Formats: sequence, structure tokens, C-alpha cells
Amino acid sequence: MSVPSTHFPSQSLGEILLGWFRRMARRLPWRETKDPYAIWVSEIMLQQTRVEAVIPYFERFLQRFPTPAALATAPEEEVLTVWSGLGYYSRARNLQRAARMVVERGGFPQTYEEILALPGVGEYTAAAVASIAFGLPYAVLDGNVMRVMSRITCDFGDIGSLATRNRLRDAAQRCLPPGEAGSTNQALMELGATLCLPRNPRCLLCPVAAQCRARAEGVQDELPTKLRRTDTVAVETTLLQIERDRQILLRQRPSGGRMAGFWEIPEAAELPQAEPIEEVHRFRHSIMNRAYRCTVLHAVNPEPMDPAPAGYSWVDRSRLPDLPLSTMTRKALRLK
Ligand code: SF4
Repeated sequence: MSVPSTHFPSQSLGEILLGWFRRMARRLPWRETKDPYAIWVSEIMLQQTRVEAVIPYFERFLQRFPTPAALATAPEEEVLTVWSGLGYYSRARNLQRAARMVVERGGFPQTYEEILALPGVGEYTAAAVASIAFGLPYAVLDGNVMRVMSRITCDFGDIGSLATRNRLRDAAQRCLPPGEAGSTNQALMELGATLCLPRNPRCLLCPVAAQCRARAEGVQDELPTKLRRTDTVAVETTLLQIERDRQILLRQRPSGGRMAGFWEIPEAAELPQAEPIEEVHRFRHSIMNRAYRCTVLHAVNPEPMDPAPAGYSWVDRSRLPDLPLSTMTRKALRLK
């Protein structure tokens, strides 16, 4: 179903949003700076991750790597350790590769096209950094903005389709008052994050309720349209917590594959000879379209594993905070 809208928002809508944003914006650490490096780091962290979860990571990351040069020269394992827990670790690796390019070219790129050319930067991040750090007139289109614009313009097109996205981006672009792209983009994202919520949008508090066509037609709860593409796959897995003294058995993922260099506790299928002693706990974890139900068992090995089997290491528990651990392993070991 695709019903292109004929309702076009304008710069006056952007100005209303801007006034609201200046009064109501949440104070977030990346809004206190114009440093393109810091804004870029925040935008990469905010991909796929909630604002509240990002704040402590952002502060720690900037403390440890305050400049592109500091990030470019750090050991990769240290970068992954500081990122550990945020998930989607290719983001951290791309950040470091991009930081090296920034250092090589002698400064942060200042055009949309050059920012877009950095590893790990897509159209959304390039538009966000270009507009917020440099005031360039590029509309951002993330999930929040798509929801807001689909409602304001009452566009029932599938937001998974390129045509709908282009229409919504055009509509957002027309909202940007001259010289105010960065703040207006943030205002649209803020509206989506705080009032124009996926369920039960808080239209009574909305600064652009009078301009919102979906509200006028009473269909705001039906938008945006998102057609289902992939079903979630349920996966049951058993993880083994095998310890001796203060050491735990871990394996490091091989280089070249997904999450290369990260440490994990073994799955039961990898060590069929291990004998379970008791269940420690259960938890759920999602990766892409896989929904894991994980059971963690205390286990022992009938043979002394000294040295550890090939691919595994005995790791002192005191070292765990300094290692890049997969999020599933962090949950399994109940680490923060
Ligand atoms: S009026 Fe309601 S649906 Fe429309 S933009 Fe505001 S919060 Fe969203």
C-alpha cells in the first residue's frame, strides 16, 4: 500500500519545531559541543542504541580518546574494550579506521560528500554531522524522523521502500530554515524520541499538532507503514561457565570473521565432554533477526584442561573488565 502525500510541510513548521526544541531539548553531552569529532562519535554510537545507554559510553570514549589522533593510534583491543557492551562492534573498528583517515588528511572533512566517504558513515550520519557540526543544509532521516514526517504528511507508503524514504527526506528538507539545519534536524529527532512515539503519540503536547495531517484525520496510530520482511528466528543455546580458582575458560574469536578478537564463554556444543553441574541463570538476547534464549550452566571438564584446549584460554576474572567481551558473554557472566 502506498499513498503518496500531497501535504507538504514548510520552513514555518521548522521554525515552530526550532522554538520548541530550544525550550524543551534534553541536555545531552554531544549537544554541548561543536567539535565534529565528538558529534561524529555520538552519531555512530546512537546508531541502533538508545540515548540513555549511549551517554556513559560516549563520555568514557571521549575521555579515553579525546581526538581523532588519540583514537587512530590506540591499540584496537583497547578501542573494543571501551566499546564493549554497546554491540555492533564493526562500528568501533570503522571509527578507528576513519580516525586514521582523518589524521592522514590533516583534519576532519567539512563537506557532506567527504564525510560520507569515511568508513562506517552512511547518508544519515553524514547529514547529521554535516548539519550539526558545520551547519550544512542536509536533512537527516532516521527512524524517528521517518515516523514524524510520515505522520505530518500522512504518508502511508512503506518506510522500507526507497521511494517513500526519498519523499520523507524531501519533506524533512523543506522544513529546514536557512542556517538552522543542525538544530532543526535535532528538533525533528527529539520530537520523535519524546512525543511522536511509535505507540500512543502525545499529540496534545505536540508543537506541530495543528500542522499534522495524520492527527487531523485521526490516523496517527496507523503510521508509519512498515511491511514485514523477515521473521524472527528463535534459537536456543547453552553456554558453559567453566572455572578453576579465579580463572574462567574463554575463547577469542578468530581474526577476519564477525566480531574478530572478542572473547566469549564456550557453547555446550563446542565442549561435548564437559559435565554440567547446575544451572546458573537464563536470559534472552537478540542479534539481528535472531532471538536467543540462553541457558548458562556451571560445568566441569572430566580431564584437567591444562593447558587450555586449542583456541581457548584460562583468563583471570580480574582481567575481564579490560577485555572486549561479546554482549552475550557479558550477560552470561552478569557483568555490567
Ligand atoms: S500531532 Fe501527534 S502524530 Fe502529529 S507529529 Fe505531533 S505527536 Fe506526531
